[in-house]
Amino acid sequence: MLADYHTHNYLCKHADGTLEQYVQHAISLGLDEIGLSDHTPMPDNWDHEVRMTEAQFWSDYAPEVQRLQEAYRGRITVKFGLEGDFMPGTETWVKEFNAKSPFDYVIGSVHYLDDWGFDNPLFVAKYDEKDVNDIYGLYYERIRQSAESGLFDIIGHCDLVKKFGHRPTKAMEEVLRETFKVVKRSGMAVEINTSGLRKPVKEMYPSETILAILSEYGIPLTLGSDAHTPGDVGKDFGLAKALVERYGNGRISVFTQRQRSEVTV
Ligand SMILES: [Zn+2]
Ligand SMILES: [Zn+2]
Repeated sequence: MLADYHTHNYLCKHADGTLEQYVQHAISLGLDEIGLSDHTPMPDNWDHEVRMTEAQFWSDYAPEVQRLQEAYRGRITVKFGLEGDFMPGTETWVKEFNAKSPFDYVIGSVHYLDDWGFDNPLFVAKYDEKDVNDIYGLYYERIRQSAESGLFDIIGHCDLVKKFGHRPTKAMEEVLRETFKVVKRSGMAVEINTSGLRKPVKEMYPSETILAILSEYGIPLTLGSDAHTPGDVGKDFGLAKALVERYGNGRISVFTQRQRSEVTV
């Protein structure tokens, strides 16, 4: 069975379409599950230009996800997800916020290195002001911290730092092994996120180099399109499925009320 666990909608202000349109596109593709996982609000409505506010979470997001779960029962399973942000200093707020709703899963993503939104095309020039190896080093430090935080169920797009094509000049294997050992200990899954194919890097997140490490360590996988428009739901899942067969024994993880189980793709 196939499940797309990474989708957005109009509430984050940088995606199109209603939640229902994402669900309907998933049904048209014959997916078994769709996870709605919009960008989380943050404390004090920080960076609300690219995410829903906390008020919108309660007035629009949570009730609409729960309405769709009921409305489409029997046609597709709709999961109540969220894409969280890992930022040091916000852990207590995030823990309390995540405990208030019956989420099926929360993706943990690193989109910021200190105050730099490194995956935002508006701030791409900053890559040239820093040492690329330092950027990668700090990125994987944040991934390790996000895994150790215990706040999340799935590591989102775990090599997002390559999005615009900047590559480290030093060997990364030791850093990657150290990082994914921590992820393995956390019990989290790692997503295969097809959106990288639609970005300048033109490559899945994660790379096959990382997938080989995940396979060696027995780290479970999920699937996500990271759709920011309904038509991108399930995008390139044929390619993703082949990677699951190669690096995940043909199995993906699904989550219900933050409990993981595995199904065959
Ligand atoms: Zn987004
Ligand atoms: Zn993301």
